[in-house]
Parts: sequence; structure tokens; C-alpha cells
Amino acid sequence: MIPYQCGDFSKELAIQNGYSLEQAKFFDELRQYYLQYRFRLGRKFAFRPPKTIVIGPPEPFSELLALHEVSHAICEHRDFRMDVERLKMEVQAWEKAKELALQHGIEVNEELIQQELDTYRDWLHQKSRCPSCGLTRFQTSDGIYHCPRCESFS
Ligand SMILES: [Zn+2]
Ligand SMILES: [Zn+2]
Repeated sequence: MIPYQCGDFSKELAIQNGYSLEQAKFFDELRQYYLQYRFRLGRKFAFRPPKTIVIGPPEPFSELLALHEVSHAICEHRDFRMDVERLKMEVQAWEKAKELALQHGIEVNEELIQQELDTYRDWLHQKSRCPSCGLTRFQTSDGIYHCPRCESFS
């Protein structure tokens, strides 16, 4: 078996990486539709600001995941230090992805979207928990978390 290859998107490379001809064609159409962005094949689906869309290895709903990453680009998302902002960006990118799915004839899977958002919610919850007392901390604009209990007594 040919090992997975990263690189600039081409239909041939996508097919070598395990995508069907139909899927490769869809990604190629997407690339031609959004000429302002750069499409790459990579290890996982991602958006790298300002304009690189990374298409990961085949998985269920790859097309929808690609539209989600395109949505981050369209919404002009950048890195935010505030984690709450990150969750907001994810929600916004999924809303946009649903619009694009309709436009490009791709099936929307609500379950996948909720799963994806839940991983961010869990992540946010984990990060905001105070490691000493377990209370929910708050984050200031410099990205640092503060515990209302521990910090007021120290
Ligand atoms: Zn996202
Ligand atoms: Zn604490």
C-alpha cells in the first residue's frame, strides 16, 4: 500500500490517499470555487489562517468536514487567545458549513456537528476547571485563567 501523502491538493493525490473519484472531484470543484484559498492534503482536517484549507485522510463525512474548514476561512477566523471565542468560532463555522452544504449538495449530519462541538465544550470545561479546587475559573484577555476562590485567598 502507498503511504499517505501530504502536499498541495490534486485529484490524483487525493485518490492515492484513499478518496473515491467522486470525492476527489468534489474537493477539486471546491478548490476551483474558492480560488482565493489554498487547498492541501494533510494529516487532519484543519484551517490554517489566513487561507490554507487542509483536507485530512478519508473519514465519514469528509466533504462536510472540508466545508467546515472552508467556513472558518470565509468567516476570517484567526487565533483567539480567549477559549470562549474559540467555541463561538466553531459554532459559527458549523452554521456556515450548513449553508455551504446546501449550496454544494452535501448532506448535513447534525450528529457529527454536535459531536464535534461537544469535544470543544468538554475541552473548554476541562481547561476552565481549577486544578486545585475544581471551581470554574475565568480567563482574562491575556489568555490566563484565574480561580475566584484560590486567588482571593492567596
Ligand atoms: Zn472548526
Ligand atoms: Zn481554585
